[in-house]
Formats: sequence, structure tokens, C-alpha cells
Amino acid sequence: MGKAVGHADRYEENRWGFTTRAIHKGQAPDPVTGATIMPIYQTSTYTQKLDGNPVPYEYARGDSPNRDALEEALASLEGGDFAVSFASGMAADDAVLRRLAPGDHIIAGADLYGGVYRLLESIYRPQGIRTDYCDLSRPGWVDRIQPATRLVWLETPTNPLLQIAPMEFITEAAHRHNLEVVVDNTFASPYLQNPLQWGADLVMHSMTKYIAGHSDVIGGIVAGRSTSWREHLTFVRNAAGAVISPFDAWLTLRGLKTLALRMERHSENAGRIAEWLAAQPAVGTVYYPGRQRGWQQQMRLPGGMVSFVLKDAGAEEAFRVLRRLRVFSVAESLGGVESLASHPATMTHAALPPEERERRGIVAGLIRLSVGIEDLGDLLADLEQALAPS
Ligand code: PLP
Repeated sequence: MGKAVGHADRYEENRWGFTTRAIHKGQAPDPVTGATIMPIYQTSTYTQKLDGNPVPYEYARGDSPNRDALEEALASLEGGDFAVSFASGMAADDAVLRRLAPGDHIIAGADLYGGVYRLLESIYRPQGIRTDYCDLSRPGWVDRIQPATRLVWLETPTNPLLQIAPMEFITEAAHRHNLEVVVDNTFASPYLQNPLQWGADLVMHSMTKYIAGHSDVIGGIVAGRSTSWREHLTFVRNAAGAVISPFDAWLTLRGLKTLALRMERHSENAGRIAEWLAAQPAVGTVYYPGRQRGWQQQMRLPGGMVSFVLKDAGAEEAFRVLRRLRVFSVAESLGGVESLASHPATMTHAALPPEERERRGIVAGLIRLSVGIEDLGDLLADLEQALAPS
């Protein structure tokens, strides 16, 4: 890693704390101009000298300095030996899944981002790659392992019900059966937890969310430790071409620098909002990692996502509440500095068949909040007026 212009080989970097690495890893001043912040190398190709001294880059689908810097920082923050970035989180997921062959089988967590479900069911199942969906927080999932099972795929906290999957138990059980484990760490971010530390073989992110953090970029990344995964992912990226642009890599790296600060504030605001929601007469179940036993075993803080069910309410009532919000924007996505609210049954999880949604608890009265870093009082006041009886 790290042939990008300006990468210094500084052994002490490995001992730096999280935020120091987020700000400096892979981001030494530009050796040509002294620019403190790496310039955006907005070029598709690199001029070759043909004098026996090759320049480090050739063509930007294969490699680019902004991408390399971002990947070096994220590999370090996830404790991986490599990180490979992609044009989106879905492109990152797809690149992982391309390692499988017809006949292979996957075990996935039941509470999964709808787009991943769509990828598994609409693209991979017709190719003969089947997936079973299980509650991975209960040990019974191992009974679903078949001779053809290759991968265990999980999110934690899950989406949209924010359940914690115990990564150490899952990876231990999976490895006993020679399965590899992929953890989607999008909802937590590398600041809150590092799945490789708990034995995961790969960790992926939709960088669109907390890593970039400002709702202005689409990107994905996969980090890990095995050379064969690294070779597979870089090969697929170059061959299939789902690369993140230099500008988007640069924006993502800029967002990454404040990840720790943002996650502290997201968690503080979300924890207080979850507490407040649980005391409201109009609200039934409140889902928040900080309200579950044992979250501290694998998370530094419980994060910025809160879901709740409106009591005795269907989609119409949920929409009435969403329409009244003023500070929260009603939008898909999560992880930006601004607060968002969404209706999983008709937005993020619309790709699931209705009976599958119901079975998973994604009911019509469920609202998901991505709590931003605004002033807590304004967020609480906004929710209060939206939930007030009409
Ligand atoms: N994984 C999770 C948990 C997500 O929430 C998302 C997007 O919402 C994705 C993957 C896909 O990422 P992207 O939208 O960047 O393709």
C-alpha cells in the first residue's frame, strides 16, 4: 500500500491513536508542492517517461493517489493490511460476492440492508448462489450450515432494528466450519468497532454514511488481511471498473478526519433521544444499541441510529409524523451531520416482499432516525411537535 505521492514510511504511525491516524495516515504533505492537504489528482491518465524510471501511476481506473491515501487511512483504522475502495457500498458488496461460484451458499443476518437483500436475491440467486437468512444473535444459526456454505454475512448493529450480532461468537463458530465472515460495519463506523479484531475476514462500509459523514458522496470500501482477498478485490475493481472518483475519494478522506468527533456527538444525541422516545405515550418499542445488554463488549459507543415504532399506528400515521418534522429531513441514507428520518417499510426496505418485511419486524409504524450532530434541544423539540396528537 501507499505508492501515492507524499506517502512517507513513518514507523511511528502504527502507534498513533485513532484520530491522529484518521488525519495523517497516508496523508503526508505533497512532496512536489508542499501542499498540506493532498491535491485532487483529477486526471484519468499519467504520462509515462519511458526512460527506465516509471512514474507510480498509469491509468486512474487501476490506481489513483487520492484513492490510495483514503485506503491507507481506512486500512489502518480498521486494523487491516489492506483496504480497497469502490464507487459505492453496493459495488463493494458485489466485488466480495463475485468470489463465489454457482452452487455456493451464504448465511446472512436476517435484519439486513434491503439493497444487499436485492443483490443476493435478484442477481446472485439466479446465478445459483443461494442465501439463507438467520438470526445470528442466537446460536441455532449453525444448523443452517451446508457443505456448500462459504460465507457468513452480517451487519451489526443491524438495519433497521439495530440489533447487536455478537461478532466474536459468530466468527469462532464460522471458522470452526471453515466459513469466512464478512461484517458490514456501516452503521457503527471504524471508530465504534473493528470487526477484524473480533475475527472477521473482511469488513465493509458504505462510506456514503458515517465515514464521509456529510451526505455528499457515494462510496464503498472493503478491508481485510488476506492477500488472496486483496488480489481478488483489486482485480474485480479494475476489471469491472466500479471505482470511486479522485474528487469523491478526496471528499471522503476530508470527512474521515472528523469521524471520531462526529461519532461522539452522534452517540450523545442519539442516546438522549432514545431515552426521551421511550418515555413518550405515542411510542411503542424503541430500538437503540445502547438499550441492549452487552453492547459495550464490542462497541466503543452505541452510535447515532435510533428506530422506534408508533403505537397502534400504520403507514399513514408514520407519514403524518414524518411530514411534520422540520429539523429532521425525511430521506434515505444515514450517517451525515444532519438528522434524517425514514420509513423503512417503504424506503430502505421496500425491496423486501411485504410478508418478509413483516416477519422481520419492519412494520408500517416503524420510523428510523439517523441522529445528526445538531443541538440536542432542537432535535427533541422537533420530535415533540411531530409526535404531538393532531
Ligand atoms: N450497507 C448498508 C448497511 C447500507 O445502509 C447501505 C446503504 O444504505 C449499503 C450497504 C450500500 O451502500 P451505498 O448506498 O453506498 O451503495
